[in-house]
Amino acid sequence: TQAPQSRTFEADVAKLLHLMVHSVYSDKDVFLRELVSNAADACEKLRYEALSHPDLLGEDQKGAIRITLDPDNGRLTVADNGIGMSAEEMIEALGTIARSGTRAFVERLETAQQAEGSQLIGQFGVGFYSTFMVADKVEVFSRRAGSQAANVWVSDGKGAYSVAAVNLEDAPERGTRVVLHLMEDARSYAEAHTVERLIKTHSGHVPVPIFLADKPDAEPREISDGAALWARPKAEIAAADYTDFYRGVAGQFDEPALTIHFRAEGRQEYTMLAFVPGSRPFDLFDPQRKARMKLYVRRVLISDEADLLPGYLRFMRGLVDSADLPLNVSREMIQESPLLAAIRKAVTGRVLSELEKLSTADAGAYAKVWDNFGAVLKEGLYEDFERRDALLGLARFKTTSSGGEWRSLKDYVAGLKDNQTAIYYLAGDDARRIETSPHLEGFRARGIEVLLLADPVDSFWVTSALGYEGKPFKSVTQGAADLALIPLLDKPEEAAPDVSSAVAAYLAFAKSTLGEDVSDVRASERLTSSAVCLVAPEHGMDKRLEQILAGAGK
Ligand code: ADP
Ligand code: MG
Repeated sequence: TQAPQSRTFEADVAKLLHLMVHSVYSDKDVFLRELVSNAADACEKLRYEALSHPDLLGEDQKGAIRITLDPDNGRLTVADNGIGMSAEEMIEALGTIARSGTRAFVERLETAQQAEGSQLIGQFGVGFYSTFMVADKVEVFSRRAGSQAANVWVSDGKGAYSVAAVNLEDAPERGTRVVLHLMEDARSYAEAHTVERLIKTHSGHVPVPIFLADKPDAEPREISDGAALWARPKAEIAAADYTDFYRGVAGQFDEPALTIHFRAEGRQEYTMLAFVPGSRPFDLFDPQRKARMKLYVRRVLISDEADLLPGYLRFMRGLVDSADLPLNVSREMIQESPLLAAIRKAVTGRVLSELEKLSTADAGAYAKVWDNFGAVLKEGLYEDFERRDALLGLARFKTTSSGGEWRSLKDYVAGLKDNQTAIYYLAGDDARRIETSPHLEGFRARGIEVLLLADPVDSFWVTSALGYEGKPFKSVTQGAADLALIPLLDKPEEAAPDVSSAVAAYLAFAKSTLGEDVSDVRASERLTSSAVCLVAPEHGMDKRLEQILAGAGK
């Protein structure tokens, strides 16, 4: 055996560890869920790799997670017979911040207050490093599948770690064993009832069986059977099972807003179990816009981030398990397979129709979904023309008459005034400013509802959408609105604007003074208390879109 090589953690890891250890508010229980999920991931990775290298499995075919407790010495060990890690892989995986979730977490920390930072840990989990909330020493013994060498990684979480080779008999035959030397105040994690309760509540649905030995020499017993929840009949699944599963698969700690679980049979056979989260995942606006959906083929995990849903449904979390996709081709080829394209199409439609169902069955719950994800769903309005009508049906808006509530276009159209030919909107980047815009005066005075669009995406879809139920979208800043035909609320017999000779003279003066800067100066129906406002020409660009494009330097 060679001497251990000592290394220092990457700067971000050191920062993260410091915060972990000094966090008083966070929920330390998360470390166990993280260890179990890593062990399960390792078993799933091995199963995938064994598709092309069956010899990797050898005699020990079935993935398993073994937890051993040592209450007398304050130790907790989590072992798996999964893929394992080489020395280089340990240095990479356990000395840097590789995973995108943790990276996003660290970025959030930079701007968070200390107290908030501690709570963020609970929300994010942050993986392996959370073991240092409960342990003052962590040892990771690992032997990669198929390798004749084993290594141990050791750290006290205070800035440095070491990696050294170990004898094969001191390491698992295959996979990884993580040994936590628990801190004085965390010794309850070496007690069977605590660990069993935590596993049942947080890890009861990992797709690998979990065994627990209460003492180093005790017989391990199965505390979780590793049966895939999604493969069970719906009638046998309790709401709490779904919630636990959701928390595991989504890394969220709340309740799902909507659970979608169904089996498709016929031309394509697959099962989908997916969730609309109850709150916004932290990486919702990640520029990669990937949906975090897992793809399984007959229970073998093929990909963590399969391209199963379009970018505008990237808030969805869950999985699809296909019975038809071939298992013996590469991840990349599966992604390009026409079978997968058909599944993608079907599940996208299903998510939209389930959202639609929720919107009629429970408008309040749907309003919350829209609060959280409406801005993302609206991206579909200019990206997915095929589903634009369905998406317009799902869309909700704040309007001049909705009193801060969400309104559907269906309701908007039902409330059209006589002679109203368009769905009016005003787009801008500041909700409060939009609401008080003088452009709205003439509409308010006539009781005409106007959509108030304050999301950056609004200007993009609204200018390309053809309309809803035959009514075009029209910006109130664009051209002479057809207000003359619609009477004022308190003055039903409103005449055409009274352009007296004095006003006519003023208009001529203003036009010649402003010259090239304006295309026209007109008397208008749209103002009731302000003196002037700027409007865009009838066929010109909407003002808000113009600003966005100018800002983007186009
Ligand atoms: P994540 O699981 O999101 O990648 P973690 O911090 O939990 O982040 O783990 C970091 C990495 O360490 C994993 O991606 C994996 O490569 C490696 N790892 C951790 N635990 C194990 C294990 N039991 N077996 C194999 N690799 C592991
Ligand atoms: Mg992990």
